[in-house]
Amino acid sequence: MNGFPSILESIQDLTKPQIDALLERANALKNRAPARLPLDKSLYVATSFLEHSTRTKFSFASAIKRLGGNHIDFQAENSSLKKGESLEQTLLTLYYQGIDICIIRTNESHLLDQFKDNPPIKIINGGDGSNQHPTQALLDLMTFIEVLGSLKGKRITIIGDCEHSRVTHSLIELLPQYGVELCLCGPESFLPDTQAEGVTHTSDLDWALENTDAIYLLRIQLERHDQSDQRDNSGYHESWGINLSKLKKHNVTLPIFHPGPANIGVEISQELVDSNLWMAHHQVRNSVYMRMAIIEAMVGNGDNKVGAQYRDLSKNILGEDK
Ligand code: ASP
Repeated sequence: MNGFPSILESIQDLTKPQIDALLERANALKNRAPARLPLDKSLYVATSFLEHSTRTKFSFASAIKRLGGNHIDFQAENSSLKKGESLEQTLLTLYYQGIDICIIRTNESHLLDQFKDNPPIKIINGGDGSNQHPTQALLDLMTFIEVLGSLKGKRITIIGDCEHSRVTHSLIELLPQYGVELCLCGPESFLPDTQAEGVTHTSDLDWALENTDAIYLLRIQLERHDQSDQRDNSGYHESWGINLSKLKKHNVTLPIFHPGPANIGVEISQELVDSNLWMAHHQVRNSVYMRMAIIEAMVGNGDNKVGAQYRDLSKNILGEDK
């Protein structure tokens, strides 16, 4: 897609028409439209997950194979990053080896900002710290539309540890663009301070359940809690977890989304995971098509400046020859 960014770090890197085009293309791929790429050369995509993952990594791997591409899993643990090499030099090495795109997951927020002006390689953010997880938000958008129809005027309520969730930060940037009223619900320490248009906050779960069209649950993002903000989560299910009796109490039937991994018995009960309200498997299925669409768009973005500054090796830094 012409003009598509070479570094997809956050939802803000995309325009609304680009997001609309991704939705259209992901749906076409789901309906078995043929992959468009690569036409003139083999596609090589590397994944480099510096933090744990099941869904994201395997859905990217599946997307790459379905596009007819080659997937190389770059094991950061066994790489020269462990010998003190900078991430930029490592990415440049992958670029020279002919990798088209590198998908990176890291526990460091904003790690990819440094590459925006001079990309050493095309990069898709597979989740950076608590900052952003744009591909998750995009596949969620695809699934919300599939389940809820038009999103204009609908309220979607994210319940749980919104403050530490990169998915929430991406959804905050994305959903209001589609007319969604996004409600963030949880104990106060789990709600971000920031105010954004189209986004409300509440710690009143009863109100939230009665005034929403869908629920989006989050696990407690324990790995991002400071020692100082360790809280006792033993009563979490009773206070904030969603189960059948809470839905019955409010007489509501709501579709339940979750980016995974779900902690059953904490934010969600087993009976709901086993019910027809549980939409997480639709999210997982759509993730492959949305990620195929994103890879296609990035490979075909016509950007020939990636790695370019490194290609110019003609510069004589010792000055003119005498
Ligand atoms: N899988 C999502 C992420 O990587 C959600 C989570 O881990 O809770 O952010």
